[in-house]
Amino acid sequence: MLRTHTCGELRKQNTGEEVTVSGWVQRLRDKGGMVWIDIRDRYGITQLMFEEGVCEPAVMEAAKKVGREDVISASGKVVDRISKNDKILTGEVEIRVRQLTTLNKSKLPPFLIEDETDGGEELRMKYRYLDLRRNPVRKNLEFRHKMMQQTRTFLDSKGFIEIETPVLIKSTPEGARDFVVPSRMSPGEFYALPQSPQTFKQLLMVAGFDKYFQLVKCFRDEDLRADRQPEFTQIDCEMSFISRQDIIETFESLTRHLFKTMLNLEVDPFPVMSYGEAISNYGSDKPDTRFGMTFVELNKVAQGKGFNVFDQAELVVGINAVGCSEYTRKQLDELTDFVRKPQIGAKGMVYVKCNGDGTFKSSVDKFYSQEDLKQWSNAFGSNPGDLLLILSGEGGSTRKAMNELRLHMATLLELRKKGDFKPLWIVDFPLLEWDEETQRFHAMHHPFTSPNPEDMHLLESDPGNVRANAYDLVINGVEIGGGSIRIHDRGIQQQMFKALGFTDEEAKAQFGFLMDAFEYGAPPHGGIAFGFDRICAVFSGQESIRDFIAFPKNTSGRDVMIDTPSKISVDQMKELSIKLDLKQ
Ligand code: ASP
Repeated sequence: MLRTHTCGELRKQNTGEEVTVSGWVQRLRDKGGMVWIDIRDRYGITQLMFEEGVCEPAVMEAAKKVGREDVISASGKVVDRISKNDKILTGEVEIRVRQLTTLNKSKLPPFLIEDETDGGEELRMKYRYLDLRRNPVRKNLEFRHKMMQQTRTFLDSKGFIEIETPVLIKSTPEGARDFVVPSRMSPGEFYALPQSPQTFKQLLMVAGFDKYFQLVKCFRDEDLRADRQPEFTQIDCEMSFISRQDIIETFESLTRHLFKTMLNLEVDPFPVMSYGEAISNYGSDKPDTRFGMTFVELNKVAQGKGFNVFDQAELVVGINAVGCSEYTRKQLDELTDFVRKPQIGAKGMVYVKCNGDGTFKSSVDKFYSQEDLKQWSNAFGSNPGDLLLILSGEGGSTRKAMNELRLHMATLLELRKKGDFKPLWIVDFPLLEWDEETQRFHAMHHPFTSPNPEDMHLLESDPGNVRANAYDLVINGVEIGGGSIRIHDRGIQQQMFKALGFTDEEAKAQFGFLMDAFEYGAPPHGGIAFGFDRICAVFSGQESIRDFIAFPKNTSGRDVMIDTPSKISVDQMKELSIKLDLKQ
């Protein structure tokens, strides 16, 4: 038998038992007549002890020869440990080893297999199987596993059934590029990998599966960031005969269930905020509501006093950094540098210090009297000791920059607390977004989203003002997921494609199958999808989803361990009718 117990299992009550454990060598301490080896598996660490005179000389010698990460198996008696280690659960005992077998030797690992490692990101990814031996990464994957089980348990208990949809499909538009797969049997033709199972889950509704879910891989070819991967997992759901409210309630319950079972947290009911409110108060459709610092518009009080920059601006908007009036010149300059960074894009920043004595000191004192500044302060409801930070310019870009400044200030002031969770729903998104570059409307969610019933009549005459019957779940400034009530009527779907600039032929060629299905008794339906890797990261208070994925890609979309994307052979290319680049 290679093991009777795992390396995380033995306790005081096991003392006296004869046991065998197997695992990896974490550490070796050789004190001549005594040798200790820490043996590790995914359950924990157990101390092995070898004593001259107690174990055979050959065993003693073998113990001295083991190296880090060798796979060994040791048998002996569980004994009380003299110097206890209360940091680990097995810390009260050790095994007095009689027999030791090296099952496999290991080369010296390229980085330390410890919680804090000396390995850089690239090295850790190249040897991901070693990185996965480290506690923090292993724990993330265990967390992910539990989250998956809890998701399935909850949805199953509510009558949802999990149905797999195909991976080799035709484009499903979710706003990214498709990954495509050439077909051997149909030369010159391609499958697309699903950006989501959107059309299939809708077809399942037509088929009568009124509650569907799937923990599903989706593929999107877009630029990568810490919270994006080219392949990622969604909790994808769809329901029939429901209203927006039903979806919100069901998936709020799922989220609560996850908070409760994963983190033992009861969270307040999730507020619902309109898109318009989110943009005007936070400059973002995914506001972090763990802290206030909401936007205050100052056009009325700040314009018309001869300060050109404000007078010419479409929007003058500010936030109140409570208690920051003592900021130094240097700190204020740093904030100005921050908003001027190209990715933030503001031209400058105006500040007003609300001094302790009730006076004001601003960067625009030349143009504004104490009385004027008092009015600004009233607009913010600020107190002596506060600092007002103000940006101005074109509406959209100024709000965006202000959003960044608000988040930056909250980070500086440590207001974005880990362990504090503020979920909310955002509703009433615009259905369509005008794209200057292509000079046409794009679906803000996707083209299957139903217009808000009250705005249906505007679809032809004023498409830009139609609100979508859609919703997003946001937690702590991160978009966890979103969905919508769908169009289930062929005519309206056709109208929608028209608004998006598709000709009838294009719409038919790409989505004829769905519109055809709508003619065979499509029930009213709607759904939602949560980014599963993201939920894992947000619940754990981490920014990157990468460490919740066993084998992630790097920011260039490469898997550096298996070294892909990679070339294929000339024969494979011929078989796939891919033209050869003869220069290669
Ligand atoms: N398919 C959508 C997405 O991937 C979610 C939905 O509308 O249900 O974002």
